[in-house]
Amino acid sequence: MLSYRHAFHAGNHADVLKHYVLGLVLAHTKLKDKPFWYIDTHAGAGMYSLQEGYATQNQEFEEGISKLISAKNLPAPLQNYVTQIQSFNHESTLNFYPGSPMVAESYMRADDKMRLFELHPNDYTLLSENFAGYGRQVKVEMQNGFKGLKSCLPPPPRRAVVLIDPPYEDKQDYLYVVDAIKDSLKRFPTGSYILWYPLLQRPEPTEMIDSLFALNLANWLHVTLSIEAPSLDGFGMYGSGLFIINPPWTLPKTLAETMPVLTELLALDATASFTLDSEIE
Ligand code: SAM
Repeated sequence: MLSYRHAFHAGNHADVLKHYVLGLVLAHTKLKDKPFWYIDTHAGAGMYSLQEGYATQNQEFEEGISKLISAKNLPAPLQNYVTQIQSFNHESTLNFYPGSPMVAESYMRADDKMRLFELHPNDYTLLSENFAGYGRQVKVEMQNGFKGLKSCLPPPPRRAVVLIDPPYEDKQDYLYVVDAIKDSLKRFPTGSYILWYPLLQRPEPTEMIDSLFALNLANWLHVTLSIEAPSLDGFGMYGSGLFIINPPWTLPKTLAETMPVLTELLALDATASFTLDSEIE
């Protein structure tokens, strides 16, 4: 079942949270003068037009990145993210929004490598085109990202940031994620793993996070951003969360300082809120 196309959601509140935090993790990872791999298990197309095609249908970016672009006096970490998104746009108009692989690419140095997995044939083709010319630094594969991840771990430099960002249209994804994380931690316990998930009025997201807590991990961070009250009909995504294993030690402080601003900017009603918990040894 591959009906999900990320272009419909490009630049929405969930992308903002995910790509903002991804940038913070990668910026910290590249502080060390040692190469690393970036592995994206569900990479999407890599770049999205906000002026034509799927993204224009519901214009979800208007309730996401557009709100940050027009904001004044942002704290430095959020401003850095906005500046990065602006760098993909030649004029003041927001024409393009980068996907996670393109966000990550901004942080790559000559010796760092990217491994990107995307199963949808159309998005795989777009992703390959977007990364044509990168040579051996970037490998794009039309493969199940959960399987692809196994083949990458442990990565030769013994340093990696892994983004796990499935569509969850298939409920099995919640279970595959937990299996993938358990298996990955056996193969490569010191990697940084960033898991994205939706806030929904159904049990699977909470059960998935509970299963991760049950692993008794030593180093983790859990952040959620709810932009509105859950709907009365019980349907729809009202926010999203990230569960990060082996996060940078600086991340709790950066998020404690900036999540209040991000929440206020993306709030759709007065119930908007965030949660932030972590344990880092
Ligand atoms: N990570 C992207 C970003 O932040 O820009 C968005 C990814 S989107 C949420 C999920 C993507 O996973 C879709 O493009 C979908 O086609 C793809 N996909 C679905 N199942 C997959 C699988 N088993 N392996 C790899 N890709 C898959």
